[in-house]
Amino acid sequence: MSSGRFAPSPSGDLHIGNLRTALLAWLCARRTGRDFVIRVEDLDRVREGAEARQLADLAAIGLDWDGPVVRQSERARFYDAALASLAGRGLVFECFCTRREILEAPSAPHAPPGSYPGTCRDLTEAEREARRQDRPAALRLRSDVATFTVQDALHGTYEGVVDDFVLRRGDGAVAYNLAVVVDDAQQGIDQVVRGDDLLSSAPRQAYLASLLGSTPPSYVHVPLALNTEGKRLAKRDGAVTLAELGPQTFGLIVASLGMHGSSPRELLETFEIEQIPRDPWIFVPPA
Ligand code: GLU
Repeated sequence: MSSGRFAPSPSGDLHIGNLRTALLAWLCARRTGRDFVIRVEDLDRVREGAEARQLADLAAIGLDWDGPVVRQSERARFYDAALASLAGRGLVFECFCTRREILEAPSAPHAPPGSYPGTCRDLTEAEREARRQDRPAALRLRSDVATFTVQDALHGTYEGVVDDFVLRRGDGAVAYNLAVVVDDAQQGIDQVVRGDDLLSSAPRQAYLASLLGSTPPSYVHVPLALNTEGKRLAKRDGAVTLAELGPQTFGLIVASLGMHGSSPRELLETFEIEQIPRDPWIFVPPA
């Protein structure tokens, strides 16, 4: 089955920019004859009651989805299996670096700033044993490439950094990049529509997908909603949620897309992926 998805983190209420991204994900999936699934990314930052409110808000703007809602918190065994498969191929190493040590280490030759400097990549077993006394290890991918290229419907060919990124944190939590890749592959998701703040994660995820034997999905990274200062829209910007904005919410989103229609089904009649606006949506809460 070929599917698109919306994958909210239940850390609070969805704001109008999130709802717009969800609508676009729904439109892209339905327009291309795909199923549309919801995956709740509840591995961390979970706020009590947020998931139920998010699902209710998605339904309230007229979105429907196929099959049961999937929760990452119920899928640990699949992440463990993927980690074991990578480790069995020598593609995982233990890392004992703190964030600060990574920032302060001299960067590897030709590596872009912020890339993992390779400190723990080639520790001997004795060195690892000694470091295990200090702190629990994170697990990182032993990446063979420095960059990877993905295709995005709005951004075209996009080449981005792939370093030895974290697969499991020192506290045992599965990293976002691993969970997303395992889930997208297992759920048959071959179209990923999400905010363009995640465009730079796509090369890492596509590379990891290819290592795990799946074809990377097609990507549509859509512009975010920003506040009047040009920063990412947030709760503190005033009335931004469905509960706060009320019935005008859908109309505001539709107008921001330069479209006309009073329901997602109606929009579907004229929707084309290529026509998604390329610029961020500056959202001014109505007075
Ligand atoms: N859960 C992520 C978020 O809410 C989205 C992840 C994704 O779409 O890949 O920002």
